[in-house]
Amino acid sequence: MATVIDGKAFAAGMRQRIRQAVAQLVAQHALKPGLAVILVGENPASQVYVRNKGKQTVEVGMASFQHTLPADTKEADLLAQVAQLNRDPAVHGILIQLPLPAQIEQAKVINAISVEKDVDGFHLQNVGKLCAGEPSLAPCTPTGCLLLLKQQLGDLAGKHAVVVGRSNIVGKPLSLLLLQENCTVTIAHSRTRDLAAVCRRADILVAAVGVAEMLKGDWIQPGAVVIDVGINRVQSEGGNARLVGDVDFAGAMKVAAAVTPVPGGVGPMTIACLLQNTLLAACRQHAVEIPQNL
Ligand code: NDP
Repeated sequence: MATVIDGKAFAAGMRQRIRQAVAQLVAQHALKPGLAVILVGENPASQVYVRNKGKQTVEVGMASFQHTLPADTKEADLLAQVAQLNRDPAVHGILIQLPLPAQIEQAKVINAISVEKDVDGFHLQNVGKLCAGEPSLAPCTPTGCLLLLKQQLGDLAGKHAVVVGRSNIVGKPLSLLLLQENCTVTIAHSRTRDLAAVCRRADILVAAVGVAEMLKGDWIQPGAVVIDVGINRVQSEGGNARLVGDVDFAGAMKVAAAVTPVPGGVGPMTIACLLQNTLLAACRQHAVEIPQNL
């Protein structure tokens, strides 16, 4: 039986360390990191995410700023809001909750965020820095996956990592992070031939596909570590909705060395890494040493 990787507990530990680091920054440098989140429209899932982010930001002692704009907001008005936050010295991180309404060009708005405040790591300059191996703000979900892998395996050098999914927010940045850790990385996607055989060669198998329970137990090499990024809502037989990942969890548990559950695996890591990025951003903007305990 595989070990279940407890992302919820790991993320709680991270938030605790961040809280201590924030207290240290406030006491020694009068620096209170601040995170601003912009929500456009009333997408219920986005509202829940934004609420959780605000709550956890306050819990670690940071300042939380929330800006809710109507669904018919013009692109120019959103850009003006971003420009105002770029100038605001109390704001060290800016996050625009995605998706944005159709009238707004997502890339244009993301690239208008100051590179130093881009805590989601989606600005083209941060993408480029990650690709070039320079210090950057890396996207939160891939960073969370990497931290769980390092906790489980220690040094990742030489491991064969197969990442299924090549999106700009998960698959691609995670592949680059794994490459920086000296993994041999294979990126698979919807055009990959014989995906099951490719997956079976993985020491580290990451599923970021968005298809419920697609990766089966017999796609997994015995002893592999499996990271399931997927969040899919399915109807159970009783008619209730439940969340499942992109991996057949029961099948994976029989073969793998360790598996992240859904929920409670990668999910909780995303906000913890967002808070960590906000802390890093605040320290860099004020040329303050990053607290050791992180
Ligand atoms: P995208 O839809 O942007 O990308 C999905 C990727 O999977 C694409 O590269 C696509 O290939 C590939 N893919 C789709 N179907 C197949 C298939 N049948 N075989 C092989 N590859 C396939 O999704 P995201 O990366 O944004 O998200 C992936 C999952 O992770 C989703 O379930 C999402 O909800 C979840 N997620 C979870 C987060 C968290 O905090 N835990 C954060 C972000 C996402 P191609 O490029 O060829 O189309």
